[in-house]
Order: sequence, then C-alpha cells, then structure tokens
Amino acid sequence: MDLYEYQAKELFAAHGVPVLPGDVAETPDAARAIAEQLGTTVVVKAQVKTGGRGKAGGVKLADDPADAQAKAEAILGLDIKGHVTRKVLVTPASDIAEEYYVSFLLDRANRTFLAMASAEGGMEIEQLAVERPEALARIPVDAIAGVDAAKAREIVEAGKFPAEVADQVADVLVKLWETFVSEDATLVEVNPLVRDPQDKIVALDGKVTLDENADFRQAGHAALVDKEAEDPLEAKAKAKDLNYVKLDGQVGIIGNGAGLVMSTLDVVAYAGEKHSGVKPANFLDIGGGASAEVMANGLDIILHDPDVKSVFVNVFGGITACDAVATGIVTALDMLGDEATKPLVVRLDGNNVEEGRRILAEANHPLVTVVDTMDNAADKAAELAAAGA
Ligand code: GDP
Ligand code: MN
Repeated sequence: MDLYEYQAKELFAAHGVPVLPGDVAETPDAARAIAEQLGTTVVVKAQVKTGGRGKAGGVKLADDPADAQAKAEAILGLDIKGHVTRKVLVTPASDIAEEYYVSFLLDRANRTFLAMASAEGGMEIEQLAVERPEALARIPVDAIAGVDAAKAREIVEAGKFPAEVADQVADVLVKLWETFVSEDATLVEVNPLVRDPQDKIVALDGKVTLDENADFRQAGHAALVDKEAEDPLEAKAKAKDLNYVKLDGQVGIIGNGAGLVMSTLDVVAYAGEKHSGVKPANFLDIGGGASAEVMANGLDIILHDPDVKSVFVNVFGGITACDAVATGIVTALDMLGDEATKPLVVRLDGNNVEEGRRILAEANHPLVTVVDTMDNAADKAAELAAAGA
C-alpha cells in the first residue's frame, strides 16, 4: 500500500526523521485556516499517490492565508496523471539551499535491501539514474546488520553529501532505516531532502510503500487506508478475503488457482477479439478449497459489478471435487436469488466431473450454460457479454 505524502511524513516524524509541521485540508477554507494557524508563508501541496506533482501544478507557494485559500482552490480537483486531488497539505514554506535524495527499498532482483542516495536530489530520480548514474549511489544493505552510524556514513560518502551536513544526513538515514524496518515498508523515499540556508536538514517530501503482508503485526496501518479512494468492489472482496482485482472488461471471471485464472483471462481476451472486443472484467481466484459460501461471495461481487455482462466460472476440480463446486454454484445462485441477473458460463473439469455436471444439469438454472472445454466456454462467455453490452 502506497501512502500519501502527509501520511509518510507522519511516520517519519514518529521515528525522528525531521519534517515540517502542517495539516491536510479538503476545502479551500480549511487550507486558509491551517495557514492562519501556522502563521508563516506556506506551500500548498496536492496529496495524490503519484510523483511529479510539482511539474503538474500541484505544489504552490502562498504568501498569506488568503493566498493559501486561492492556491488550494486551484489545486483541489486537479487531475494529476489520472489522480484527482481531494486533499492538500498546507505546510510552512522553506528556504531551500540544496536538494538531496535518499531512499531505502527492497531490491528484489538482488535479494537484498538497497540504499540510494544522491547530493543531487529534487529532480525526478529516474531521470538522474539514466542521465548521470554515477551521481546516484546504490549501496546494498544487509537485512540483519541494517543501518548503524557507520553504515550511514558509508552511504553519505557514496552519495557525495557536503561535509557540513554529513552528520545530519547520516542521522536521518539511521532514523529512516528505523522507519523502514519497524513499519514493515518496502520503500521509504525522501525527495527532496533539503538543506536550508542555516544548514538544517529536513524531509520536504516523503514516499512510503508498506508491505501488506505484514498487516497482521501492524495494527496501526489499517487507519492509513484511504477508504474513499478504494475501489468499492475491491474493498468488499478484501473484507471477504477474496483475491480480486478489478479490470476494465465485461466478462466476469471466477476460477480456482491463480494460474488457471490467469490463463482464463488470456483465453477470454483472445475469444473477445471475435466478439466486439470484450475483455475480462476482473481477476478472481477462489482458491483450492472453494466452498459454496466462497463461491457465493465471489459471484456476489462479480454480479454487482455494473460493467459485467456475463460470467465465466472456470474450475478444475482437484482437492475440491467438481460435485462440491457444482453444489456451490447452485447454492450460491439460490442465496443470491433475484440479485443474480447475468448469464453464467460454467466449465468444470477434473476430479468427479461427471457428478458435477449432473448436479448442474439437474438444477437446470436458466442463467447457467455448461460448456465442456475452456476455449469453447470462453467463446460462449465472450459472445454473451457482447450480446448484453
Ligand atoms: P513532487 O514533485 O511530487 O515530488 O513534490 P515535492 O514535494 O518533491 O515538491 C516538488 C518541488 O517543489 C521540490 O523539489 C521543491 O523544489 C519545491 N518545493 C516544495 N516545497 C517547497 C517549499 O517549501 N519551498 C520551496 N521554495 N520550494 C518547495
Ligand atoms: Mn518529490
């Protein structure tokens, strides 16, 4: 999960990384009130989970509270790379002498953690990495040894930070590493880390990605989820422990096992080319031991997706035999009753397939079509989606 800048800075502050005060506003009036309270010139910053806000007009200096209100008015609602701004951060404007870059991240390719640091921050780091790779230090960090004062020194030297701020930057690095570890992050990034004219170091921007696999031991992280920005179907699926991802097509997909579901997306996309270009509407893996209840939960989510015009249930009976899956489908349709309104194409194969097909035939549900092979079923589902679109 990616955090907003203001949330990232709250975590930084909690771990002793120097940040400026400030608060978020959802209205221009509220932005003005925060500026009044701060009593300084301020900067108004769009809170969106994407970079390059500065260039997109999402970061503006304001001279006084009235100006902060006007700047917030201009920024709220602004679309930045497809992210609509619903909140702004109002924080004291700082005088900047120099801009630096520091981050810690999980380096999957090299199976280690990585520190990246540069005395040349501010600009987009991807650009720096391409144009002047020698200016961006990359130092592997051992997961067990971590970042102590000596390691921080090594990073500071590799990043070519000026001597006058070396101690402060090293201290920031130790605290940033503490943030990274104790919050179970996969990325903490500060760009820019600034030096003011009095040589004080402060994190002016912050980016944090938290590892959701650690949610079970991070009770505080649930509060960081932006419920309003979440896709409502994905939120509902998460609440029911389903592996669901919304896509932009019209054929709802349910399968068991991530590999089978991914193949199903491919065959449906391929079949869709012959049927008005319909595409898969989602990824949904109901897992190996799919009970009737899990099937009902899955169908419930997919049938409530207004983009879905047909549903393809593609199940390979393994540990859970096809008869149990078929019973699950029938029970799920019973449970949903009138709420089930879209045609279902079902392909069952594997363990106890004959009994599964018999159960579906006997139920003879008007919405259900049983098709023997995956390719033919995909074709049928695409055809029905095209007809219903
Ligand atoms: P990003 O563009 O989304 O990464 O947003 P940042 O928070 O990094 O801001 C972009 C740029 O705006 C920074 O690199 C600074 O140059 C500038 N900026 C941000 N805050 C301030 C501030 O308080 N004072 C001044 N003078 N410039 C700022
Ligand atoms: Mn930035």
